[in-house]
Amino acid sequence: MTHDGFIPVAAPDLGGNEKAYVLDCLDSTWISSSGKYLDRFEAGFAEFCGARHAVACSNGTTALHLALAALGVGPGDEVIVPTLTFVATANTVTYCGAQPVFVDAEPDTWTIDPASLEARITPRTKGIIVVHLFGHPADMAAINAVARRHGLFVLEDAAQAHGAECRGRRAGALGDIATFSFFGNKIITTGEGGMVVTDDDAVAGRMRLLRTHGMDPTRRYWHPVIGYNYRMTNLAAAIGLAQLERVEWQLERRREIAAWYREELGQTDAVTCQAEKPWARHVWWMFSVLVSEGAAGRDSVMEAMRRRGIDTRPVVHPLHTLPPYADANRTQRFPVAEAIAGNGINLPTWAGLTREQVRIVCDALLECVAAVKTA
Ligand SMILES: *Cc1c(COP(=O)(O)O)cnc(C)c1O
Repeated sequence: MTHDGFIPVAAPDLGGNEKAYVLDCLDSTWISSSGKYLDRFEAGFAEFCGARHAVACSNGTTALHLALAALGVGPGDEVIVPTLTFVATANTVTYCGAQPVFVDAEPDTWTIDPASLEARITPRTKGIIVVHLFGHPADMAAINAVARRHGLFVLEDAAQAHGAECRGRRAGALGDIATFSFFGNKIITTGEGGMVVTDDDAVAGRMRLLRTHGMDPTRRYWHPVIGYNYRMTNLAAAIGLAQLERVEWQLERRREIAAWYREELGQTDAVTCQAEKPWARHVWWMFSVLVSEGAAGRDSVMEAMRRRGIDTRPVVHPLHTLPPYADANRTQRFPVAEAIAGNGINLPTWAGLTREQVRIVCDALLECVAAVKTA
């Protein structure tokens, strides 16, 4: 996991049945996009989320695209998206020919602000995408209430939040539909992979159709709609099933690591940790803090930590600042997201981290912040 004491920001753990299941795929020649591991991974993941259907696909981005396409999002529609998220959340709205409409973040959880959401709804709005950022669930009670009032769908982009809970219910069962990523640095991984979960039979059926070239399942090579090839392989699902068998262990480890970070950093006002609301179960995909020095100071802190062999990541740029989206959003203001993006650092968070490594990271962080303050 670590080389010469280097502490990475993320690292997968493949210590379960991954190897045995992959070898079974090779031995049986079931390496393409059907097989028992796909069936078992989909069924197991649906059960994990408490949802009726799980549709496996090639990554978290195609999961979002499948979900939006199956919900009927198309040209002329608007979809509300938090500006503080990974770019794929908005890009997939754009793939559908629709327009992402950005909303600011809440200052403590960093997720979409329900209070500023309603003002962005227009007659063209079709739905709301919430993102459980870094593993903290969005405030679903408030968001679902707004959505019901306006007849909008709610899609959870849960790429970073496998197992997160809001008032005792799991991500995947908190809105109308939810998407997950199994990229190498996510809470569980298949290398590359994604999943959409929903209770809606018709939407699940449309996603299965779109996932495999829009081919009628009862009539070979008859394609009533234009679909995609967004399938997952049985090989990837074999890794995913082994990961799913140990997901509760992953979540326990991350919870313990977050508690260590809070023990080390909770008392100082040199940094502010992302909150965990009383109604939420944060799954700590990335334990994250804010400094108060602004982007230049934050970047020097990260550079100084890297020189000490500790890898970190800056919080993403808000999407309204990126070239493809900046022009349409010039007149909008997103001060909370900009402050979080400018001051935010993701700290190393992965299952194998030790108490000692967390102490090393926190000592380095506090010393590097102090050095920037006096510089
Ligand atoms: C990782 C991620 C995605 C995209 O997932 P890929 O599997 O990399 O395509 C989408 N949304 C969010 C919030 C993510 O963190």
